[in-house]
Amino acid sequence: MVIPLSEAREFVLSKCGPGPAVSVPVDDAADLVTAAELAATGPIPPFDNTAMDGFAVRSADVANAPVTLEMIGTIAAGAAPDMNVGEGQAVRIMTGAPMPPGADAVVMVELTNMADDETSVDVSQSVPVGNHIRPAGDDVQPGQIVFEAGTHLRPAHLGVCTSIGVYDIPVYARPRIGVISTGDELVDGPRPLGIGQIHDSNRHTLLALVNAMGATAVDLGLVPDDEDQIRTAMTQAAASCDAVITSGGVSMGDFDYVKKVLTEIGDMRWMQVAIKPAKPLAFGTVNGTPIFGLPGNPVSSMVSFELFARPGIRKMMGHSEPVIPPVSGIAGADMGRGPDGKTHFARVHATMTADGRYEASFSGGQGSHQLSAMAAANALAMIPNGEGVAKGEPVELILL
Ligand code: AMP
Ligand code: MG
Repeated sequence: MVIPLSEAREFVLSKCGPGPAVSVPVDDAADLVTAAELAATGPIPPFDNTAMDGFAVRSADVANAPVTLEMIGTIAAGAAPDMNVGEGQAVRIMTGAPMPPGADAVVMVELTNMADDETSVDVSQSVPVGNHIRPAGDDVQPGQIVFEAGTHLRPAHLGVCTSIGVYDIPVYARPRIGVISTGDELVDGPRPLGIGQIHDSNRHTLLALVNAMGATAVDLGLVPDDEDQIRTAMTQAAASCDAVITSGGVSMGDFDYVKKVLTEIGDMRWMQVAIKPAKPLAFGTVNGTPIFGLPGNPVSSMVSFELFARPGIRKMMGHSEPVIPPVSGIAGADMGRGPDGKTHFARVHATMTADGRYEASFSGGQGSHQLSAMAAANALAMIPNGEGVAKGEPVELILL
């Protein structure tokens, strides 16, 4: 029985849950998701400081500029002020240095002229109170929740964590995803191919896809179409990883032992999904570990990864939105097809038009073996069952 994409995906998501909440060093936290909210204990910036190199002054003293002020010292970034700015006085100050007591404004260095003996400075313009001062707490207030639980940590988030002094971050553990290729025809490495052989491309693609989304890809190698070797590989993979992705051996072929073995050792569901490419999908668990049995054709395995493995792994990583919603675009050329009961996922290249819409056209041949069109694509266009989408008509795009 052929089932809709939504049903297959719901089944996958029902078996994938977030990993344990752990605390990891900030430099290991990129792309993980916070498992608890994070609050600042103090203000950021921690003290009033200058945004400019210049002179800390009392605004009232320069109201009638040009004026000459007595220079009573210098404060570098990182130094503690040891003076008080009184009437008619100024302190040379560098960007990021704390404001000295008494001063209420900064005049940037370009508007000043310091005497050679550094005892006085001419100020050419008046400045308002607060000029070029970054007040304490201007970025983050004490007690403020900087990130809610469920925040996807990108590089700027890691900077915020350390700026509030948090170097160990509560996150969902980074899942380890094993990747296995199956097939007697597959060869790894730059060796010449014998008759009937091809290079294993899926594994290298899938390893990169897993790593790029912030999970840890574990290369579990190439397994021939041999029942015992497949059984050993699958059992070890399920025991050593948080999820396993295989490609090949899940369709109707005589030597598709992946299906036989997983049925024996796991709790698997063999699905035919109403999509093209990537109709066959094996998904289930072996000793509780989710197993994604993706089809072998290179484009199919990537499309299946996008539609099933990515959402499943996102859920394991704690993302609140496992399925990234498609964006709306228009067809830049006719995308013809015939009715077959399936949603087609066409490899397309989308560009942004002057009025800010995505306009997509086929990026190359649409065969499930034509991986070069996938490489040229930056999106999958969802073409609903029917006669296709004509140039200028709306089309949903899954951005890659
Ligand atoms: P299968 O799903 O095992 O029947 O394989 C379907 C097609 O995908 C066949 O043409 C295989 O040779 C090809 N294929 C399977 N695994 C890989 C792989 N790892 N890399 C490249 N092609 C593959
Ligand atoms: Mg095969």
